[in-house]
Amino acid sequence: MRTSLQFVRQQFIWSMALIAALPVSAGAIPLPSEKPSSGILAVPVPAQKATPSAPNARSHKKQQVVLRDDQPAKLYFGAMKSAAPLAARAIGSYAKGCLAGGAALPTDGANWQVMRLSRNRNWGHPDLVQFLKDLANDAPSLGWRGLLVGDLAQPRGGPMLSGHASHQIGLDADIWLTEMPDRRLTAKEREEISAISMLKGPLDVKDADRRVDPRKWSDSRARLIRRAASDERVALIFVSPTIKKALCDFETGKDRSWLRTVRPWWGHHYHFHVRLACPRDSKGCKNQNPPPPGDGCGKELTYWLSDVPWVPKKPKDPNKEPKVVKKRPMALSALPKSCKTVLAAQ
Ligand SMILES: [Zn+2]
Repeated sequence: MRTSLQFVRQQFIWSMALIAALPVSAGAIPLPSEKPSSGILAVPVPAQKATPSAPNARSHKKQQVVLRDDQPAKLYFGAMKSAAPLAARAIGSYAKGCLAGGAALPTDGANWQVMRLSRNRNWGHPDLVQFLKDLANDAPSLGWRGLLVGDLAQPRGGPMLSGHASHQIGLDADIWLTEMPDRRLTAKEREEISAISMLKGPLDVKDADRRVDPRKWSDSRARLIRRAASDERVALIFVSPTIKKALCDFETGKDRSWLRTVRPWWGHHYHFHVRLACPRDSKGCKNQNPPPPGDGCGKELTYWLSDVPWVPKKPKDPNKEPKVVKKRPMALSALPKSCKTVLAAQ
């Protein structure tokens, strides 16, 4: 028992190191969580003042931007409609930072289509945009028609009004595990179509079958993730442990080094999450610790696929309401100072 506890502790050290580096605005799952943060849209927005929109481009009057340190950063960054006209730079860390000189991934390419256009989250560091174009370009040769691209970052990065804790510095992208159809989706379809889960069923029940659903999973998906993970620009890829297992079984070749880059995480059975390493010229961009050596297909994965992480423990007193801890949203002051310059740039 002691050994297994020790193992659990050990094997979470790496994950917790990640978490510690990435303070979060909402939810218990801090890293690439897809959980929406609650009720924030109802908050009166200082972002109105913060929006440096220029109604008259010819006007030489610059709008005064009022930035208050104590305000939630997501209100400012969530209101930004365009990139900061500065040199491209990922600033800070993946879940505490912002983006200067962001570029938009065009909503359509020969081998990709951007989903959920209303979110305006198809922005990233130019390196990320280039990476996605390269991956899309290679997709057909892997037996995958093209990419359906989910969230990248907001035009100036930063915390989002809803959803992810990370995706803040323009180096993260979600790619659906649904293949691009052989036609252009309408804007409406891009809002409404749901991605498809690769799971057989829920993971949070005792003795659940935590393998991928063979009717949904395919080798083409594995090849696509392998292509992404083998790219030297990529630092990490997050997938459901269920998918990690499928990838471990898929790779029968000698070179298993790419599997080290693919890490099991909560969620991520509808899409995989690609995270690029800091571009060399992005001063103040903080890389995270590299994953432990090895392909990650051993003990760590066995743990992830056991009941322990998933099945809730019975509450001691069933009549007692569980405590809900609400985390405060990240204040503007928590971000690197340069992020104020990013907000104010016009
Ligand atoms: Zn993500």
